[in-house]
Amino acid sequence: MEIALKRGFLIPSNEAYGQVAGFYDYGSVGAPMKRKIENAWRMFFLWRDGAFEVETVTILPEAVLKASGHVGHFGDPLVECSKCKRKFRADTLVADEIGRKMKEGAGEHVKRLKEHLTRLPGMKPEEMTVKLKELGVKCPECDGAFAEVGWFNLMFRTNIGPIEGNTGYTRPETAQGIFLAFPRVFRAHGSRLPMGIAQIGKSFRNEISPRQGLLRLREFTQMELEYFFNPSKAAHPNFKDVEQQKVRVLTRESQLAGKEEAIEFTAKELVEKKIVPNEIMAYYLARESQFYESLGVPYPDFRFRHMLPDETPHYSGGNFDLEVSTSFGWIETIGTAYRQDYDLSSHSKASGQDFSVFIEEEKKKILPHVVEPSFGVDRLFWVVLEKSYRENGGAEGRDWSWFDFSPHIAPFSCAVFPLMKKDGMAEKAQEISDSLREEGLNVLLDASGSIGKRYARQDEIGTPYCITVDYDTLKDGTVTIRFRNDGKQARVKLDGLGSMIRGYIKARKVTA
Ligand SMILES: [Zn+2]
Repeated sequence: MEIALKRGFLIPSNEAYGQVAGFYDYGSVGAPMKRKIENAWRMFFLWRDGAFEVETVTILPEAVLKASGHVGHFGDPLVECSKCKRKFRADTLVADEIGRKMKEGAGEHVKRLKEHLTRLPGMKPEEMTVKLKELGVKCPECDGAFAEVGWFNLMFRTNIGPIEGNTGYTRPETAQGIFLAFPRVFRAHGSRLPMGIAQIGKSFRNEISPRQGLLRLREFTQMELEYFFNPSKAAHPNFKDVEQQKVRVLTRESQLAGKEEAIEFTAKELVEKKIVPNEIMAYYLARESQFYESLGVPYPDFRFRHMLPDETPHYSGGNFDLEVSTSFGWIETIGTAYRQDYDLSSHSKASGQDFSVFIEEEKKKILPHVVEPSFGVDRLFWVVLEKSYRENGGAEGRDWSWFDFSPHIAPFSCAVFPLMKKDGMAEKAQEISDSLREEGLNVLLDASGSIGKRYARQDEIGTPYCITVDYDTLKDGTVTIRFRNDGKQARVKLDGLGSMIRGYIKARKVTA
């Protein structure tokens, strides 16, 4: 986190006024990288499969979120210390206490505790009150006793317009906007299933006590795709492209047996062995694996955890979380859920509008089912930082830490340096930067300090290519290109430089 702040990836929001937990700004280095990760996702999940993108509003009227279940059920159990009045998440207190007891105990006792732990997500506030008493949990701050566990809704509430009681909320997920837009997008594109509709945007959760930097934010970015299909044809047209893709799954059986070891399956096996509810689910798990590897997350460092029945919403036909092993332990960064027709049917009932579609071949109306891969961008950004960080090495004599980003998501595609500012080299460097920018590359022009220092600065933010303009450039129209990972240099012609770099980026070339 220190490095991310120092090198311009992140900025503590509202820093001058004292940072509020759960908010982070992306800095001048982080923002372009976040944008590139989002574009890589567009390419991977939308453009390649012909899915559509929408952009819906972030403030929703209460009726929408009542229908979706968020007004009633989107919250955390909250408990107040009756002595010091501090508030805590009750489920965290219970889980921490069980964890502590498990470390001490053994045998049957531990088995029973483990059961409690897996049941926790589905536990009601009343049950949690009892559990806190049973376990004898006291306030971690003052040792005081706890009052009854209550329910804290995690949505930010506001008033729409000047009329009191016209309640709105900032959206807790981008998905609801997609469901509401579905009928029009469906009609605008030939009224055919299957159809993928996605969006990238901000969502909000008023977390009780966010910690861990980017991992638990109150304002965050999601990339969500809703794949609408006819449930009698739960297949994906591009499945054959991924059927041999390997996917590591932490099965329910393994979890219940207390095992941490994920089992490897091909996407095809996931379907045949009925580990996933349908082929579409297997398709997305396979694609998610490929996407993560393309961003430099090593295959052994992530797995799909099949959520246990208690963690799975009643309407879901199955949830799989992609978890990555990080310095914070295993963290969930994608949730893939088979939501069936829950959302469209809820909105049909609550709004009185018909969300069903007519299926020509079957001569009947149906409510499409939905598989939803939902990505947390900030968590993914964090994972990419962690997995790409290198202490030193690679280039000869490198004794500074650097980032080994895949070139297509590096904050800057390349840097251009004039060897010196005099004799027309600065102007030439400017001219080269301009022409590279016209070719769609984001270029950092840097003219200060020794060349060695400038290389180090670019390594520190993971710039894959550095172009140096020197006296020879003015004479023969060539420049030096230096590759980030091995520090080796080559002399290349200015003519065609832009398409050469774009070729390198496409080929993920990071050494000479
Ligand atoms: Zn207290």
